[in-house]
Amino acid sequence: LKTLRLILGDQLNHKHSWYNGDQDHITYLIMEMRQETDYVTHHIQKVIGFFSAMRNFADYLSERDHTVIYYRINDKENQQDLKKNIKELISDKGFEKFEYQLPDEYRLDEQLKELTKELEIETQNYDTEHFLTGRDELTKIYEGKKQLTMEYFYRHLRKKFKVLMETDSNPEGGKWNFDKSNRKKWKGEPEIPHERGFRKDVSDLNRELEKAGISTIGTVEEKNFNWPTSREDSLSVLNYFCKNLLVHFGDYQDALHTDEEYLFHSRLSFSMNTKMLSPKEVIDSVIDHYYENKDEIDISQVEGFVRQILGWREYMRGIYWKEMPGYRKSNKLRNQNELPPFYWDAKTKMNCLHHSIKNSLENAYAHHIQRLMITGNFALLTETHPDEVDRWYLGIYIDAIEWVEITNTRGMSQFADGGIVATKPYVSSGSYINKMSNYCKGCHYKVSKKTEEDACPFNSLYWNFLDSNQERFRDNQRMNMMLSLLDKKDSEEMEKIRSRAKKIIDNPSDF
Ligand code: FAD
Ligand code: SF4
Repeated sequence: LKTLRLILGDQLNHKHSWYNGDQDHITYLIMEMRQETDYVTHHIQKVIGFFSAMRNFADYLSERDHTVIYYRINDKENQQDLKKNIKELISDKGFEKFEYQLPDEYRLDEQLKELTKELEIETQNYDTEHFLTGRDELTKIYEGKKQLTMEYFYRHLRKKFKVLMETDSNPEGGKWNFDKSNRKKWKGEPEIPHERGFRKDVSDLNRELEKAGISTIGTVEEKNFNWPTSREDSLSVLNYFCKNLLVHFGDYQDALHTDEEYLFHSRLSFSMNTKMLSPKEVIDSVIDHYYENKDEIDISQVEGFVRQILGWREYMRGIYWKEMPGYRKSNKLRNQNELPPFYWDAKTKMNCLHHSIKNSLENAYAHHIQRLMITGNFALLTETHPDEVDRWYLGIYIDAIEWVEITNTRGMSQFADGGIVATKPYVSSGSYINKMSNYCKGCHYKVSKKTEEDACPFNSLYWNFLDSNQERFRDNQRMNMMLSLLDKKDSEEMEKIRSRAKKIIDNPSDF
């Protein structure tokens, strides 16, 4: 049958079985569309990153003699809507069958289900052959369990895939988790190798986006685009990580620094989320490199990295398919405020927020602890509505796709799901930030002060958060220590804390 196969912008999997076998009657379709550029305002580098990677993938397929239809954003025949474009192509070119890979986003999943109902030709869907676990596997793994802790899921997968295992049930190095040894502050040493970056000229594409009138956030250096947009690029970032950064990854994964945007982080999320790299090949490469260099690299660095991909990444996807569509509306703490305006321009006297937001606006990137313990922490402490927080995270990061963004933002960072993903809220006062970074040294505020005019805003906000939510958290054992410290504060101090916190929450732009 004459078949049309859809490839979405995050389905650039070179190794998919689609590309083997008889290709005679098959046409592949890849489309740049306003429905995708406009469902949230994205960072300019994110739009450029996706479109460049899609164009490169189309070239890769054409060079291998596959038939490809590619719609650019300004093409006349492009109606900017998935269903309209596909329906028109089917009727114009007489396709007899429509095939697609299961999308990772609920929104697109629904749209494609609708489309297949409306089409009169045969349709079929396929797995993306990317993840290590199936969409519903997490639900099965937790059957009969009350708490969906990530650790349980992660150990299950370590055993199932025999990753870092000495025997069928014993983890390599004698421990499942080396988190405790992974909490060092970076103080200028060891030296951080420059990231494996790129200096691509994306001015033509940027002009096309301007012509199309797409609104975006953040900035791009047109002649210096720094992200991998092909399989070769992605493999070279992976290789660079193994050779240069893995050796210190675990130690400094929670560190923050004013002069270092990437520290020892891999910058692999975009390549994986677009499927230019598979999580299994990333894990395998890292482990192979570790086995070849065991005298130089400690197991704790490697386990810390594997945990992020085999553990957190697969876990978040499982939670997404288990909890959607309700998850999108969750707001257990009933927060209602708007996101402070400085999230869009980094203009704040709080040095930690200034640096983390500036990094996000300039690079479409922030590492995990900037996302969780700086921008996420502040949004939660100032009682921001999770819709507002989601909109920002989904737009600003090059790796932001809803399945992994919303579970991290609503779940892990904002506790809006009431504790499905995180067993306690990730909140902290200034002292944690000071412990892990050099931000406080150059800050307008004093991290050691609590409620004075020049006191670190995180301090009063933190105690105020515990105070306002204490009833909810009394049953949570992991909150006992924090709440017992709260109980020790006298009423005069609590009054000052509440009043300073209210000032910040009411007018965050003044800080
Ligand atoms: P590294 O630190 O080098 O980690 C290696 C890989 O592990 C990452 O590439 C990523 O694939 C995976 N990983 C690490 N942590 C997580 C996690 N918590 N969940 C899922 N995968 C993880 N990640 C996204 O890919 N897209 C998002 O939209 C996204 N939004 C986030 C929002 C918030 C509020 C928070 C706290 C985290 C978010 N993360 C998201 C997770 C994490 O911050 C990024 O994956 C990471 O910073 C990407 O940079 P890296 O590739 O250098 O990561
Ligand atoms: Fe951030 Fe407070 Fe430190 Fe300033 S003093 S950098 S606001 S934690």
